[in-house]
Amino acid sequence: MAFTRRNFIKSSALLSGLLLFPSSLFAKRKEERWAPAYEKLEGEGKLVQRIKQAYALFEKCRLCPRMCGVNRLKGEKGFCRAPLKPVIFSFNPHFGEEMPLVGAGGSGTIFFSNCNLRCIFCQNWPIAHEGKGKEVEDEDVADMMLKLQKMGCHNINLVTPTHVMPNILNATRIALKKGLRLPLVYNTSGYELPEIVKILDGIVDIYLPDMKYMDPDKSAKYSSGASDYPEVTKRAIVEMHRQVGVLQPDPQGIALRGVMIRHLVMPNRVSGAEKFLRWVAEALPKNTYINIMAQYRVEYKAYEHQEIARGITAQEFMEAMDWAQKYGLTNLDPQSKALWNFYQQRRSG
Ligand code: SF4
Repeated sequence: MAFTRRNFIKSSALLSGLLLFPSSLFAKRKEERWAPAYEKLEGEGKLVQRIKQAYALFEKCRLCPRMCGVNRLKGEKGFCRAPLKPVIFSFNPHFGEEMPLVGAGGSGTIFFSNCNLRCIFCQNWPIAHEGKGKEVEDEDVADMMLKLQKMGCHNINLVTPTHVMPNILNATRIALKKGLRLPLVYNTSGYELPEIVKILDGIVDIYLPDMKYMDPDKSAKYSSGASDYPEVTKRAIVEMHRQVGVLQPDPQGIALRGVMIRHLVMPNRVSGAEKFLRWVAEALPKNTYINIMAQYRVEYKAYEHQEIARGITAQEFMEAMDWAQKYGLTNLDPQSKALWNFYQQRRSG
């Protein structure tokens, strides 16, 4: 660069800016490092098209593997009993989710009522089975997202989103225009059609699917006849992984993008933990985030089935964790690892 008066003034201005406002400059750079997927898609002019595509599915509803074919635009209800407008039970910062979602500010959960899977051991049965909650507009959901962001939450955690996916996309775009910048967490039972999950490509940053069963007889028996659950959910999770990959946390350990899979260990090996963990090791990277959960409780109508009418034993949890180790899975949820260590010490002591 030639040493001219103009260049001297330019360099001095730049230097004084650095000296006077270094933190704001770095903060800006830090901010610029990450943007939610939906913001980029909107920038490419594609988000509105996805919303149209999603809303069109309501006409003969095939948003999930139940493929009811009802016209929800005209108020018809299918298996999930969901109306056209979203029904919300509650929204609040949640501190009981996985640590990478919670951080210091909590995970901004929005609990959608109704459910397309309806398990007989459901812990949230008044919400999922009976649809308790308040019917709202997409604009109201957008406002909830913005309130959660204002409260300091690290993400928008959409609990049971499958049957209201089009409303969620619309709400996200409305909220984006008003300043939403948090990653969306798609917190699903896993009972998703892979072709519907494709609509979310470039919108959702974090997928949080359950993998509840590996045996079609068990999913049919305990989840309202959903015998296709194991196969369809495996394909949906592979698609989720194709879109966002393994979990990517920020330097503070807060999740920004990726797949986190939950597996609730059930009594008498009903959930098929070994099969599940072997499948993960074969179908996905070994560092896929897995949360092996020990908190099964006898809820709702579970007491009617002897096989699942008790909590799990320490041994049942331990064998699941041992299988994860045997199959070489390296990214297990820290809380389940801590519980595993605790029981291991007791086992050896
Ligand atoms: S979202 Fe509801 S109405 Fe639509 S296919 Fe699934 S269960 Fe049926």
